[in-house]
Amino acid sequence: MLSYRHAFHAGNHADVLKHLTLALITKAYCRKEKPFTYFDAQAAAALYSLDDSRALQTGEAESGICALLKQVQSGGAAQAVLDSADKALFEKDEAAAKEAAETFAEYLEFCRNLQASAGLYAGSPAVVCNFARAQDQLVLMELHPSEIEILKANVELIKKGALGKADVCSIHVHHRDGFAGLKAMLPPKQPLPARGFTLLDPSYEIDKDYSDVEDAVKFAARSWHNSAIAVWYPLVERRREKTLHLKEACLATEQEVLCAELFVAEPENEHGLYGSGMIVVNPPWKLDIQLETLLPFLAKNLGGADASFSLNVEV
Ligand code: SAM
Repeated sequence: MLSYRHAFHAGNHADVLKHLTLALITKAYCRKEKPFTYFDAQAAAALYSLDDSRALQTGEAESGICALLKQVQSGGAAQAVLDSADKALFEKDEAAAKEAAETFAEYLEFCRNLQASAGLYAGSPAVVCNFARAQDQLVLMELHPSEIEILKANVELIKKGALGKADVCSIHVHHRDGFAGLKAMLPPKQPLPARGFTLLDPSYEIDKDYSDVEDAVKFAARSWHNSAIAVWYPLVERRREKTLHLKEACLATEQEVLCAELFVAEPENEHGLYGSGMIVVNPPWKLDIQLETLLPFLAKNLGGADASFSLNVEV
């Protein structure tokens, strides 16, 4: 059963949290010259038109990336983030806070330019590709028979310079189940670089997505040592137990686990999405301080008066 299409939701608050976290992780992996491999187990289309009828039907991007682009002036993004941050952070680690603010500014400028030049919003493969270098490699998996064709076409556009960068990394696209793909490909074998990270981001249409993510986290943590594993999940009241179980499974890896949640509203009913979370198993150095810097700003600008966030790190 594959009815989910990301075009309805591209650029919403949940995408912004996920894609900004991915930008931070990618930049952290670029601190070393050594190349990295990125596995995107549920890649979707990589590029989305926010003028598409599906995006316009939900209007979700309006209170997501479009709100940020309207509210934050070009050139003022880093300072706006630092103004919202808890000043105690500067004493804890001013350099990490400033690095986070700079990455936010780069991410927003990337989104602004892509929207201005092509009317597009970048999904997870395009975000990682933007911050990656020529020596890095992306492995993208997508199961939906129509979405995979759009993904392949968009990857060709990216290779031809759609992101406004010439030195694009290698990108491999697979039409397959991402969970099975990870089992077959982790740890990466030559010529793929041995270090890197994974994104797990299914549509959570069915309960099995939760148990598949748990199994994939367990498998990746065991088989690909020192790799970071990022997991996006929705905050929906009727899935509260499943979400708790997913977090416990990540903690059971006995690796460091970071969990960032952005609440954009109060839960009003069993079905509504009131926020989302990102878990990062074995997070890069200082990702916690970087997210602590960004989350107050995201809550202020992506949610209503009741918006808030949480950030936990457990070892
Ligand atoms: N990661 C994308 C991004 O952030 O831009 C969004 C992914 S979207 C939430 C989920 C995608 O996963 C959908 O395109 C869906 O067709 C695909 N999908 C669902 N189950 C899958 C599976 N088992 N393997 C691969 N793709 C899957």
